[in-house]
Amino acid sequence: MSVVYNFCAGPAMLPTQVMKKAQQEFINWQDTGCSVMELSHRSKDFMALADEAENNLRELMAIPQNYKVLFCHGGGRGQFSAVPLNLLPVGGKADYVVSGSWSKAAAKEAENFGEINVLNVVEEIDGKKVVKPSAQWDISKDSAYVHYCPNETVDGIEVFDIPDFGDIPLVADMSSTILSHQIDVSKFGVIYAGAQKNIGPSGLTIVIVREDLLGKARQETPCIMNYKTSADNDSMYNTPPTYAWYLAGLVFEWLKSVGGVSAIESINQRKAQLIYDYVDQSSFYKNSIANEFRSRMNVPFWLEDESLNDEFLRQAESQGLLALKGHRIVGGMRASIYNAMPLAGVEKLVAFMKDFEQGIK
Ligand code: PMP
Repeated sequence: MSVVYNFCAGPAMLPTQVMKKAQQEFINWQDTGCSVMELSHRSKDFMALADEAENNLRELMAIPQNYKVLFCHGGGRGQFSAVPLNLLPVGGKADYVVSGSWSKAAAKEAENFGEINVLNVVEEIDGKKVVKPSAQWDISKDSAYVHYCPNETVDGIEVFDIPDFGDIPLVADMSSTILSHQIDVSKFGVIYAGAQKNIGPSGLTIVIVREDLLGKARQETPCIMNYKTSADNDSMYNTPPTYAWYLAGLVFEWLKSVGGVSAIESINQRKAQLIYDYVDQSSFYKNSIANEFRSRMNVPFWLEDESLNDEFLRQAESQGLLALKGHRIVGGMRASIYNAMPLAGVEKLVAFMKDFEQGIK
């Protein structure tokens, strides 16, 4: 089979080395005679694996000691409910910064739990989408927390500067940007991410929570969504997604072996720049997001002549360039280029975009 590059936004491609290792170990993990997925989560072997995965993630992200790392079920949307249940007191208020469709969905879910101040921060200047500087976000003084989504997977808008609202905890949905570039975890109250983009397969959700925010959950919070219950039980209050945890551990090992987050960050910059540079010099493709807010993980682009979309996708697929169709909300194309996408995949995409353009002209 010729090489295939999968540009899916999630579940996304995983590093080839990780898939090969998982294949080798599939039915006999570390000479146990069992697959990891057949082992008890409370067995000594699995507990050791779980600890190692957590320690590697802590090292990769330089997570301070006063933060807990939780391995949960429920995905990003599970956290849309878990965050207010754990942090928004009954009768309290929270701020939700909306920079695209996922932060909008998070705000909508939070409205089920209390008063939500929704701040739309994207505006258009000279035909380009920009995000207002965080100093201009009108945060409520009595806010329990401020929620935002640093990388909007559908819209391709990324906010690189970390906002600072003093004592008001910052909550970030990092589903599509976690581990893609270095961040200072101490600036956040809670970081959460569905695994299926930069961490592993779907079914696992990582929550990184500052310890002083534990123990504030509403009484009615389901136990499996309660951060304190999870933290007190090392994420094993109920059976965790063990196989996804194992695969995430392999991804963390792989990331360490390629030089960690700072090394992958420069590759990610190069990959994204290759596509944006090509789009910008062409009159055939376009992207309407201002340079400083362009996502490095999800690169949307549109053909000037939208009637060519289907043909573009058909030819791309025939060359092994998969899942480039943009999200139905925004249309066009989207290349999701998470950590596992090699530079060669992006180079092949850009070469194809060029050939397609020339073939049409
Ligand atoms: N937040 C972001 C930024 C996402 O990209 C997604 C999924 N693409 C979600 C939340 C929802 O995640 P899930 O499907 O795991 O609930």
